[in-house]
Amino acid sequence: MKNELKIFDSLSNKKTNFIPFDKQNIRIYACGPTVYDFAHIGNARMAVACDVLVRVLRSIYPKVTYVSNITDIDDKIIKKSLETGTPIKKITQKFHKIYNEDMEMIGVEHPNVQPKATNYIKEMINAITKLIDTNNAYCVDGHVLFHVPSYKYYGSLSKRSIEEQIAGNRIDVAPFKKSNADFVLWKPSKSDEPSWDSPWGKGRPGWHIECSVMSEKTLSLPFDIHCGGADLRFPHHDNEIAQSCCLIGKNMRPENFSRYWFHNGFVQVSGEKMSKSIGNIKLINTLLKNKSGQCIRLALLSSHYRQPLNWTDSVLEQAEKNLERLNRIAKETENVKITNEEKTSFCCEIKDALMDDLNTPNVFGILFKMTKQLSEKKKLDQKKIKSNLQFIKNNLGLSLEINSKKKFFIKTEEKKFIEDLIKERNNARIEKNFEKADKLRKKLEILGVEISDTKNDTSWKKTK
Ligand SMILES: [Zn+2]
Repeated sequence: MKNELKIFDSLSNKKTNFIPFDKQNIRIYACGPTVYDFAHIGNARMAVACDVLVRVLRSIYPKVTYVSNITDIDDKIIKKSLETGTPIKKITQKFHKIYNEDMEMIGVEHPNVQPKATNYIKEMINAITKLIDTNNAYCVDGHVLFHVPSYKYYGSLSKRSIEEQIAGNRIDVAPFKKSNADFVLWKPSKSDEPSWDSPWGKGRPGWHIECSVMSEKTLSLPFDIHCGGADLRFPHHDNEIAQSCCLIGKNMRPENFSRYWFHNGFVQVSGEKMSKSIGNIKLINTLLKNKSGQCIRLALLSSHYRQPLNWTDSVLEQAEKNLERLNRIAKETENVKITNEEKTSFCCEIKDALMDDLNTPNVFGILFKMTKQLSEKKKLDQKKIKSNLQFIKNNLGLSLEINSKKKFFIKTEEKKFIEDLIKERNNARIEKNFEKADKLRKKLEILGVEISDTKNDTSWKKTK
């Protein structure tokens, strides 16, 4: 059994053995969401792919530091604020919270650090100042632009030609640019837009600089793996590399920023690109109303993370069937005892599949072959199956709860309502008003809330 992870590195464009800078602390950065709307299935795919990568690395190394940022200043957020008349902070706080709740529901562990862009404006201004000093950037009319020809290795990641780079940046082409491929580091804000004081006047940072600054401040450079959706390769990740490498020194190679680049594939919905204009955006929040988080997670893991995922109702239905099957087997093997040695020896095949660039479809293929043998009573090797189920629980984050109780989605307002009722009941008990306490307990039962009292606390869960 191999304990060596192979990952596909988008920079070298090949599958390669993962060799960390420091075996005692693996450092990973992932570009997180812009928080102005509900998380969709594309956001979730990135979060789940990174979560599996982090879990696998944690099974090999003693420590993994995982950073994923929150973009809380952006043109899209400003637009939403102006359209709805809602203050920016209210929008970003709301959707940041919902994003974290949704990700938790689909089994994504919270990153070790989740930095917010607006907490790093001063550091961004310092970085931009340095880029101007080293002639990698210039200021025109309150704008600061990164001068793309000043970085020799620009485009190493996306491998686009200069013409393609310019075409990709066309929306951004402005008359004051020295080169059409140049991109914004700082831009002036209008009077009704949020702004910060800077040496170039009141304004706000461009999107790309935030990741260069936050990754360096939270992980220090170079770090091991930079993650993100495939659509971020150009221009976002090429720009991050250019900024970060120029901040280190003249014409530093991209590996001086991050050694490996991990990109997950696109999500399509019934064969079409997910877009607001088509109206086919699949929100996690909505999906959770009918399916459990574990089911959504299994559906996301059913395709290899690098392949495009075509999201259809049947993908979700199949995932639900597979999850039921796995839960049933988990229950059947509940009382089987296994030693640690047995666990290791029984999981060779499945582990090799996962270590091979996180090949989750192969992992499930092996597992379902085993469970088929079990159901056909060919070979009732329950120990082997139980070991493998525990392996996917730890490495893929599929909890396979023995009683197969669905994890129910609870909205923030509903959670508050339930917790207020519990508080009221506990106060009634303190006041020895047991009749009132009983009534409130019954009310909670009707709402499908099961409570259990410990010495100092009351815990609760939803059961229907
Ligand atoms: Zn980024």
